[in-house]
Amino acid sequence: VLIATVCSPISYLPLKFALSGTKPPEQTCESREQRSSYLKHRSPELPPYLLSKLQEYERRHRRCGPLSESFNTTSPLGTHNDFSDGGDCKFVVYTPSQGLGNRILGLSSTFLYALLTNRVLLVDFGPDMEDLFCEPFPNSTWYLPETFPFLFQLQTHRFRASYSYGNLLKRKEEDGDSSSSPALLQIFLQDKYNEYDKLFFKDENQGFVERVPWLVLIHDGYFIPCLFQMQSFRSELEKLFPDQETVFHHLVKYLFSPSNQAWGQITGFYEAYLAKAEERIGFQIRVFEPKQTPFTAVMKQITSCTQKHRLILPQSDEVTLRNEKSKSILVASLSRKYYEEIDWMYGTRRRQSTGIAVYQASHEGKQHSGDNSHNMKAWMDIYLLSTSDVLVTSSMSTFGYVAAGIAGVKPWIVMIPDPYHPRGANESACERAINLEPCFHFPPWFAYPDPPGTGGPVGRCEDVSWGLKLV
Ligand code: GDP
Repeated sequence: VLIATVCSPISYLPLKFALSGTKPPEQTCESREQRSSYLKHRSPELPPYLLSKLQEYERRHRRCGPLSESFNTTSPLGTHNDFSDGGDCKFVVYTPSQGLGNRILGLSSTFLYALLTNRVLLVDFGPDMEDLFCEPFPNSTWYLPETFPFLFQLQTHRFRASYSYGNLLKRKEEDGDSSSSPALLQIFLQDKYNEYDKLFFKDENQGFVERVPWLVLIHDGYFIPCLFQMQSFRSELEKLFPDQETVFHHLVKYLFSPSNQAWGQITGFYEAYLAKAEERIGFQIRVFEPKQTPFTAVMKQITSCTQKHRLILPQSDEVTLRNEKSKSILVASLSRKYYEEIDWMYGTRRRQSTGIAVYQASHEGKQHSGDNSHNMKAWMDIYLLSTSDVLVTSSMSTFGYVAAGIAGVKPWIVMIPDPYHPRGANESACERAINLEPCFHFPPWFAYPDPPGTGGPVGRCEDVSWGLKLV
C-alpha cells in the first residue's frame, strides 16, 4: 500500500558507497553462499540463456556503473540542463515509494526492463533501505550517486510535470510539440497513472523511449506480465524464460540477497525456533483495513482454509498427532492477535502432545514509513516465511507474493475480507496459487488478452479479479 516516504535532503544519510569514486571494500555476502541450506525447495537451474544475459548485464554494470571511469565522465553530474547522453551507456533509475513487498516487485520488473533494453539499473534508496541487501552486481554498486542532479525530486509533481513521458505525449497531442528526444524521461507507472502514462506499454512507443539515455521509473508493482504482452520483448522473454512460471523466482533470488546484518537476524531466529521442526508452515496475515475488518472474519477465512486443505492437522481438530511430524508455525503479521489465536488453537500451551510450536518474529502494529529497522523486520519476516514447506498468504499482498517467490512454494492465498471485499459465503476461503508469479494489480486495459481467456502468456490472478499474471 502507498505510504509517503519522508526523505528530506537534510535527513538523507549518504548510502554506503554512494559515489565517492572509490570502490567499496569487497565483502562476502553470507546469505548468497548459505541460503540453499535454509530454502528447502530446490530452485530450478537458471536457464542457460538467462545466465549468459545476466553475465553480460554484470559486465555492462561494471563498465557503465557508478564506480566506472565512464560514469564519472558521462553521468549527469553537472547542472540540470547539462545531462550528458552517457555515451553508449544507458540507465534506468528506480525510486521506491511503498512497502517492501511492492518495492521488491517494482525493482524486479525494472531490472528485467533494463536487461531487455541494455540499460544499467541504479537505485534511489533512502536511508530506510540501508543495509537490507547485498550489492547484487559484483565489483560495482547499484546506488545512485548522491550527486545525481534531481535527487529528492524524482517523485515530486513538478518533476513529473516537466519530465514524465505521459506529459510529453499529452503535449505532443495537444500542441503538436515536436521536440526531439530528451536526455531524461520519467516513466510514471504508479497505480494512479493516467491514460498517457500507460502508453509506455505500447510497442510503437518503445523506439522513442529507447533513445533516451536516462529513464526514471516510478513504479512499485509487478509489471512483467505487460512486458510479455509486448511484441517488442515477447520473443526475447521467451528465450530468457522457457518456463514462464518461474520468472519472478529467478529474478528475486538473483537480485535480493539479505545483507550480512539481515542474514544474522534471519538465521538467528531460524536456528533458535524453526530449525528443529520436521515441517515448517508460514502464515502471512495482511489486513489492509484493520479498523474496519473484524478479527473473527479474518480468522474464519484462515481456519476454513487450513481445515479444508488439512494444512496443519491431518483431519480434524481432534485427531491425535502422535505419529505426525513435528511442526513449527511462523505467523508473520503486523498484529499480535493472529499469532495469539493460532498459538491458542494449535500450539503447545493447549495441546502439548501435538508437537506444534507457534512463533512470531515481530508485531509492528502498523506500517511505518521511512524507518530502516521496521523494513529490516519486514525483510526478516519475508525471508523466514520463505523457509516454509507450506505457505498461507493473504490476498492482494505483495509481501506474500515475495515470500512465495523466494521460497519457490506455491502459496495458499486466503481471501481476506475488507469493507470493499466482504467475501461471500459461496466464495472459497482460499485458493492455491497456480504458480510462483505475482499479480500485477493495475494493468492498462490494452494488456488484457483479447478476447478474454485466449491464453497467451497472461491470465487471471487468483486473488485480484482485475489483475493480470503470467500463467
Ligand atoms: P502489501 O502492502 O501487503 O502489499 O506489502 P508491502 O510490503 O508493500 O507493504 C506492507 C508493509 O507493512 C511492509 O513492507 C512492512 O513494512 C509492513 N508489514 C506488513 N505485514 C508485515 C508483517 O507480517 N511483518 C512485518 N515485519 N511487517 C509487515
